[in-house]
Amino acid sequence: MTRADLAEGHDTTERLSPDDMATLREQQNLKAALLRQRQLAARHPRDVPGICSNCAERCLPLAVYCDEDCREDHQHRLGVLAKQQARR
Ligand SMILES: [Zn+2]
Repeated sequence: MTRADLAEGHDTTERLSPDDMATLREQQNLKAALLRQRQLAARHPRDVPGICSNCAERCLPLAVYCDEDCREDHQHRLGVLAKQQARR
């Protein structure tokens, strides 16, 4: 790369082939979808069957906690959270 290239600040995406562009768009879509999913999960962290509400690990298909420890831990944290929100 020459000095002139740097100075003009060429957008390197212009040099990608259509195939590369498609791959790039696919990756961006995937990233956006993952982000949406994570934001949704953050808003609704409870009662997702098959996913532990405490540690987000997979658990039994209809369970929302993998074991009693996770249930207690999560409910304890929810209690703390509720108290923090009540204080505001
Ligand atoms: Zn768990």
